Amino acid sequence: MKVLVLGAGVIGTACAYYLSRDGHEVTVVDRQSGPALETSFGNAGGVCPGFAGPWAAPGMPLKVVRWLFAQHAPLMLRPRLDLRQWQWLAAFVANCTAERFAANKARMQRIAHYSKACLVQLRADTGIAYDHGTGGVLQVFQTEDELAAAVRATKVLQSFNVTHRLLDAAEARTIEPALAQSSVTLSGGLHLPDDETGDCHLFTTRLAELLRERGVTFQTNTTIRAILREGDGITGIATDRGVLQADRYVVALASEAPMLLRPLGIDVPVYPVKGYSITIDVADSDRAPRSSVMDEHSKVMVTRLGNRVRAAGVAEISGYDRTADRNKAASVLHAARTLFPDAGDYAQAACWAGLRPMTPDGPPYLGTTPFRNLLLNIGQGSNGWTQACGSGRIVADIVDGRAPDIDLGGLTLAQR
Ligand SMILES: Cc1cc2nc3c(=O)[nH]c(=O)nc-3n(C[C@H](O)[C@H](O)[C@H](O)COP(=O)(O)OP(=O)(O)OC[C@H]3O[C@@H](n4cnc5c(N)ncnc54)[C@H](O)[C@@H]3O)c2cc1C
Repeated sequence: MKVLVLGAGVIGTACAYYLSRDGHEVTVVDRQSGPALETSFGNAGGVCPGFAGPWAAPGMPLKVVRWLFAQHAPLMLRPRLDLRQWQWLAAFVANCTAERFAANKARMQRIAHYSKACLVQLRADTGIAYDHGTGGVLQVFQTEDELAAAVRATKVLQSFNVTHRLLDAAEARTIEPALAQSSVTLSGGLHLPDDETGDCHLFTTRLAELLRERGVTFQTNTTIRAILREGDGITGIATDRGVLQADRYVVALASEAPMLLRPLGIDVPVYPVKGYSITIDVADSDRAPRSSVMDEHSKVMVTRLGNRVRAAGVAEISGYDRTADRNKAASVLHAARTLFPDAGDYAQAACWAGLRPMTPDGPPYLGTTPFRNLLLNIGQGSNGWTQACGSGRIVADIVDGRAPDIDLGGLTLAQR
């Protein structure tokens, strides 16, 4: 079967891998000059099923209000004259109940753990290397309140069988010895040893190279303008380089997907939540993180990626602007420098910004649409690197008419 995958981020490229493995003739279309040049380029590098869960949680609306007035706040809200922004925010608040949180968390845990297993298998099958590590993630706390919240969170981890260990400050420093250089007083830590790390951009570009060798076409520098329909079928996609046609179409266009789906009558609440990252070269390996540290206080994640350190965070709800404003990345830089002051030269940090394709409830939209040959693979939000392989495999299963390995309840357009 001929399949067009729209979007060459980690989501589209991972999906192309499974489609090609199933013997399909796959073309991946993207407006950029290569794969993973938008949101999949500079993320925090965490493959973290243990942490996967919705941002819409009980207590979150109050926290958001507090952050609006704080310096170095993890969240920035820039209200716009955009009905979709307000609809998204209203839906987000509506999902902040204990009941909705529990349901959404369970859905995200299901896809995230499955996805990590798919990534491990893909790695074994292809031998792909992407500055990855299997050292887990250490969440660190600076206040007693943060630690108390972590103790409560361990009950949720237990309920999902996530291996974890609560640590005092000294134990946390044995997991990440370079924290000894930090001026921050830690109240404790939470270690999730089964989570992984890796450079999402490197993974995607290396996977794309392998796919090209297997006959997959990457049609880059091609902007999709419209999805063409006739009755209940898609007949092609209109691009700035002509119309492209296939038997099946997979939409993996992240935050841009709603604009192309709306004319078809498909309304998916995916909205961009901007984040920032900085990357430095490691100057002294012993003074850099070994794996990944999630600083609960700033919500910044600092990750070792080979001979680099990447720190990422901030949630800015401000529309579709992708500018990497160094001032707004300052809180990320500040958090990384505070935790690992001697890891490298922060004055030389490369700064990046990307748009998380977020759903207000958390889980992505996978699989079928009212159109018989159009499938969705969108809305992975802050967990797209974690969820890419599982999402791709599920969509490939649906294209082939196979039952996916996991229950798709709450992960599809029809069941939401
Ligand atoms: C600061 C930050 C930190 C993050 N940290 C993590 C993390 O640690 N772990 C994790 O799991 N996730 C993380 N994420 C989330 C993760 O990066 C995203 O969920 C993931 O990259 C989304 O992948 P995607 O393929 O859907 O989007 P993209 O990579 O943006 O891919 C979409 C593609 O569609 C193309 N496109 C869009 N519109 C068109 C059009 N009209 N025509 C042609 N092409 C088009 C774009 O060029 C792009 O290549 C983070 C995100 C940010 C911003």
